[in-house]
Amino acid sequence: MAALIDGAGIAAGVRQRVADEAVRLARQGIVPGLAVVLVGEDPASQIYVRSKIRQTKAAGLASFEHRLPATATQEELLDLVRSLNTDDRVDGILVQLPLPRHIDSDRVLDAIDPLKDVDGFHPVNVGRLSSGTGGLIPCTPLGCMMLLDTVVDDYRGLKAVVIGKSNIVGKPVAMLLLERECTVTVTHIATRNLPDIVRTADILVVAAGAPGLVRGDWIRPGAIVIDVGINRIPDGEGSRIVGDVAFDEMGHAGAITPVPGGVGPMTIACLLENTVRAAERRRAVAGDFQPVPA
Ligand code: NAD
Repeated sequence: MAALIDGAGIAAGVRQRVADEAVRLARQGIVPGLAVVLVGEDPASQIYVRSKIRQTKAAGLASFEHRLPATATQEELLDLVRSLNTDDRVDGILVQLPLPRHIDSDRVLDAIDPLKDVDGFHPVNVGRLSSGTGGLIPCTPLGCMMLLDTVVDDYRGLKAVVIGKSNIVGKPVAMLLLERECTVTVTHIATRNLPDIVRTADILVVAAGAPGLVRGDWIRPGAIVIDVGINRIPDGEGSRIVGDVAFDEMGHAGAITPVPGGVGPMTIACLLENTVRAAERRRAVAGDFQPVPA
């Protein structure tokens, strides 16, 4: 049987580490603060934002919530971001995506102070990640690496295959694996012979948004499988969440993340960790959460 990588348990450990660090910082009069900006009424975004705010407070960090109506203009949103950039209580700024269609998301993300960019989407942080010079790392890829760290001792020379080339998961996770000196292949919807490429993988990270895409016979015995996919599929009268991997066919993998309970819980935990890192860096205090080398 493949070993299960317990994302829920590992995420709880990260949240505890953040809470401990928050206590330590509080003794120095510092309360790291995360500002979450939600524009409009998208139901999924509302759930994510609620969860982020709840976990921010539970970890002992300050939470600042900003809600704008779906009709808010680009300039109103940019004004809000600029005011958060200069607000000294705010160490991290998260603008919940997707934004309404009339707003240019890139312009908004570019306006966030890179030192407060806890999502790691600002071009400065993207550049830092690809040059291996620190910076804030996007939360889901950071979470994937933390999960991998629990089962991989030495990454050097391992063959890693990433399915998906999005800016939020596929590309950054590929850069992190490359920094660890894996030999990395990034694949996507137009890749030919995907199963054959996946069969070469010691480590597979799948972020395609395609339920059950990866089949058992694509996986080399002993390979480590990180399933980032979150897909809602019909199930009887209702529905259920599945990943991008045909989980029941993965008995011969070395280790695998379940969905749900694998990568999912890591994302918010890493957001909190990034907020503490950003606070320590911006306020120039020494701490356990100095930016990790990529
Ligand atoms: P995206 O749609 O931006 O990118 C998907 C990528 O997968 C693209 O590069 C596309 O070329 C590739 N792809 C799609 N179908 C494919 C196929 N059949 N074969 C090969 N490649 C294929 O998606 P995203 O934002 O990167 O998210 C991917 C998945 O991860 C989604 O299910 C999303 O819900 C999930 N996700 C989970 C978390 C989390 O916290 N666990 C965070 C972000 C995204």
